[in-house]
Amino acid sequence: MTNKIPEIFGCMVFNDEVMRERLPKEVYKSLTKTIATGRTIDASIADVVANAMKDWAIEKGATHYTHWFQPLTGVTAEKHDSFISPVGSCKVVMEFSGKELIKGESDASSFPSGGLRATFEARGYTAWDPGSYAFVKDGTLYIPTAFCSYTGEALDTKTPLLRSMDAINTQGLRILRLFGDTTSKRLNNTVGAEQEYFIIDKATYDKRKDLIYTGRTLFGAPAPKGQELEDHYFGPLKTRISEYMADLDEALWKLGINSKTKHNEAAPAQHELAPIYETTNMAVDHNLLIMEYMKKIAEKHGLVCLLHEKPYAGVNGSGKHNNWSISTDTGKNLLDPGKTPAENVKFLLILAAIIKAVDDYQDLMRISVAHAGNDHRLGAGEAPPAIISIFVGEELEQIIKSIVDGRAYKGAKAGIMDLGIPTVPTFRKDTTDRNRTSPFAFTGNKFEFRMLGSSQNVAMPNIVLNTAVAESFKQFADVLEGAEDFDTAVAKLIKDTFSAHMRILFDGNGYSEEWEKEAEKRGLLNLKTSVDAYKQFNAEKNVKLFIDHGVMSEVEINSREEIYFENYSKIVNIEALTMIEMAMRDIIPAVNAYVTEIADTAGAKEAILPDIDISVETDLMTKLSQLNAKAYAAVEKLKKEESRAAKITDAVKRAEAYCDKVIPAMNALRSYVDAMEPLTATEYWPLPTYGEMMFNV
Ligand code: ADP
Ligand code: MG
Repeated sequence: MTNKIPEIFGCMVFNDEVMRERLPKEVYKSLTKTIATGRTIDASIADVVANAMKDWAIEKGATHYTHWFQPLTGVTAEKHDSFISPVGSCKVVMEFSGKELIKGESDASSFPSGGLRATFEARGYTAWDPGSYAFVKDGTLYIPTAFCSYTGEALDTKTPLLRSMDAINTQGLRILRLFGDTTSKRLNNTVGAEQEYFIIDKATYDKRKDLIYTGRTLFGAPAPKGQELEDHYFGPLKTRISEYMADLDEALWKLGINSKTKHNEAAPAQHELAPIYETTNMAVDHNLLIMEYMKKIAEKHGLVCLLHEKPYAGVNGSGKHNNWSISTDTGKNLLDPGKTPAENVKFLLILAAIIKAVDDYQDLMRISVAHAGNDHRLGAGEAPPAIISIFVGEELEQIIKSIVDGRAYKGAKAGIMDLGIPTVPTFRKDTTDRNRTSPFAFTGNKFEFRMLGSSQNVAMPNIVLNTAVAESFKQFADVLEGAEDFDTAVAKLIKDTFSAHMRILFDGNGYSEEWEKEAEKRGLLNLKTSVDAYKQFNAEKNVKLFIDHGVMSEVEINSREEIYFENYSKIVNIEALTMIEMAMRDIIPAVNAYVTEIADTAGAKEAILPDIDISVETDLMTKLSQLNAKAYAAVEKLKKEESRAAKITDAVKRAEAYCDKVIPAMNALRSYVDAMEPLTATEYWPLPTYGEMMFNV
């Protein structure tokens, strides 16, 4: 296959090369301009593009097309229509019009709308996003689209994402113009999302209702071996896994997805895939496709891919690192420090803007990664804590400090500039990438946001980042555009901004308890659970931010808030019901059966030899009976808490009840069950063990 890669790469994508080849010159020019500038497509060329797309798709084996969109469920949605169009009564032709390409109608009533549905019509429509290439998959032409209500409210994650990209472009260009850049036409932000996942054997998976219904194990005693030997991280790939990864890579390459790096992760049976970064809306689409294909290809190999943030207690869970930067259409990365003093000042200003944005909108950053599944990772000593902070590396932190204190920076090679601002030395990546515990780290020429959960759509974290940074840019541009002396004004702005936001910089161990205390002293937010976080979502300053930059309207914000709470409650509810079913129908009866066998054994022994030692039997019987009784009581308690929570009508109070009452009840039940597992004979235990799940792949 190795020799075929350049040939197969992107072969199923209607990409720039295909467009240039197949579209009339004028149409191609108009379309690429639309893509480059982020404008809407000129309706007059739509028919031509649609027809070319259809012909190409049919050659690739497509019979159908679909508007592919990202409703607020967190996964993608699609509805397939065939190209056929009747001619007379016995014949058909294959047709696809510009209208069908640009806009589709869809019944929105079964997708979560967080109240938007009640206020507006049930109909929704999908609108083509020409910035993300169409592709053919499973005999269907996929057209990436945005999904809106009939009155124009965004019912998806993509629309606000595209709007946030516009916001950072608009405000960022103002900054660039101030530095004399008249050639850049568009600022793009780029994302590379590293995806972690677990693999499990399908036959083992099928025996676990918890994995099937909830994606994570709700019971399970630790295996004798976990990740303590650290022998899995970057270890050699098992044959079955490497065959799976090879298939996965090939499928992704065909779709033009730059799958680049793959390796074993920290936990047994845990792996990672990293693509090469690209424009954010493409990166989001591609991450969703990566997740879809991880699952799909696994099936072919008799495996199941687990994307849950915490499939197994006691070993590392899975996250996603969102590498983020901003670059111009001329290819300049704004997070590259640059070599001249002027470039340095620009870099420091942009750095200040990002630091300010993250500090001002800590709550939104935290909310953007808040998810019931991710609550099991954040702050658990394996992923960053729930506190947002920034790591910029020692060198840069020293520079920032020297600016704040108004003294010269005595760094290795760095000099000092006229404005009292030290020059920034060119970084070696290894000097900035050491702190793996930081939630938001500068890694040489990009920031890495490390709090994302593995199952999440990466749109929201990027919507927040883009919009918050756009706001910093806006405030900066407002000051600088009116400044009498630009150089002095910039220097002051940089100094003032760093001084005001020093508290968000932290280079120590983010997993430690001391940091929690220190962060509190600094006045940083520590929103421990998703529910704590969601409550901050529609704070006045957040609503204002989204509205000011045209990213989300108040109705759209409120709808998302409602979905956050609803979704959280639903997830915990399913977990609680699954636990109840497994405990009542499988685990408690299994332990009873085993206890009966022990009792029978003891009875049989005594019948023959009345004085025989039956202490093993009595001891086991006692322990198991006691634990089983406690487990049963815990089930009863969980049932009560679950039904109490489910009856609460207020969405926030309901979510609080799930978080504060139902989860502790689930934890109690689990503790008794997990204590019985090592005492119960293998043949009686109804579930595959942690050892079997993690080491039998
Ligand atoms: P690691 O984080 O494991 O050290 P790398 O630094 O090589 O790995 O890259 C991690 C991810 O960051 C990759 O997906 C890569 O494409 C992405 N990346 C690199 N440069 C940028 C950039 N300028 N903008 C966004 N993502 C980037
Ligand atoms: Mg990384």
